[in-house]
Amino acid sequence: MSGLASLIRAEIGQTGPMNVARYMELCLAHPVYGYYRNRNPIGAGGDFTTAPEISQMFGEIFGAWIVAVWRGMGEPDFKLVELGPGRGTLMADVIRVLEAGGAREAAEIWLVEMSPALRAEQANRVPGAHWVDRIEDVPSGPTIIVANEFFDALPVRQFLCANDGWRERVVGIMGDQLIWGLSAPMDEGSGEPGAWTEVSPQTDIVSSAIARRLRDGPGAALIVDYGYREDDRPKGPTLQAVRGHKHADPLQEPGQSDLTWLVDFDALAGVFQAAGHKVALTEQGAFLTALGIGHRAAALAETDPDQAETIADALERLTDPAQMGTLFKVLTAVSTGLPTP
Ligand code: SAH
Repeated sequence: MSGLASLIRAEIGQTGPMNVARYMELCLAHPVYGYYRNRNPIGAGGDFTTAPEISQMFGEIFGAWIVAVWRGMGEPDFKLVELGPGRGTLMADVIRVLEAGGAREAAEIWLVEMSPALRAEQANRVPGAHWVDRIEDVPSGPTIIVANEFFDALPVRQFLCANDGWRERVVGIMGDQLIWGLSAPMDEGSGEPGAWTEVSPQTDIVSSAIARRLRDGPGAALIVDYGYREDDRPKGPTLQAVRGHKHADPLQEPGQSDLTWLVDFDALAGVFQAAGHKVALTEQGAFLTALGIGHRAAALAETDPDQAETIADALERLTDPAQMGTLFKVLTAVSTGLPTP
């Protein structure tokens, strides 16, 4: 049995079945055995691929959005913050666009990253960056924040509406296996029996911290993730495990696969709206297209005709509704008083 599996069994033995948020936290972030702590899981040789790894165009569009926001702010010196920068690819692509747009000198780069292995990768691609564990640790001032596939990795709690009240999904032990279970009913509450709901306290903490920053100084946030809106809310629990580019069992070999859930974008938007910010929600395909990814693809293909097919494939993967175009949602939040880019 792996180190993490025995640790989880010991904790369950001492304090009883653990909720899904605690299980995710141990699997992804345990200081020694956590999935993200000591590996680079992203890319062809890893467990999953992300939009910035598919094509430089994704980060370039982020860069164009950042330059537009910065101009709307009156071109101040600003903190450019990325949450969960992975291999640093997105930020490297952004920086090229900042240089072209005259914004590079004004930007101080802050990366919020818990993984020492990924911090090392980021240092190779983003020289001169600063690292912190939490967004709260970034010094105050005008700020532009970006995040791609960050929130879906934060711990989530899952609740089932049973006939006798809401019960929380937990991880327990049977024999030498980890198994799913349900807590005792917590309250009568309202809800349709059989309905699931998911709550991520850490998502609330991070999004509230961003919302506070955008109130204390001018700024904007661009958040892209795997998620849903109210009208296509999934019926069941959304936690999933991925390993070697395939679905895996979240309870098998804890710490060896990536665990994610689907972000509730209306709930996320609510946090920024409640703080008085201007919020827009759209889908990845529509967002990238509106900001000109089609033109960028054409320009790249013209400069490098040998790559034309690769570029067209990447464009399709990023924007097509059957691929990443609609499953991935985009939230932008802008301080009141700033123009909407
Ligand atoms: N944005 C990148 C990587 C996505 S993977 C891309 O699109 O390729 C998730 C990233 O978030 C990783 O860099 C991971 O180490 C980081 N991460 C996950 N949970 C975190 C936490 N609680 N605090 C800081 N970083 C975290």
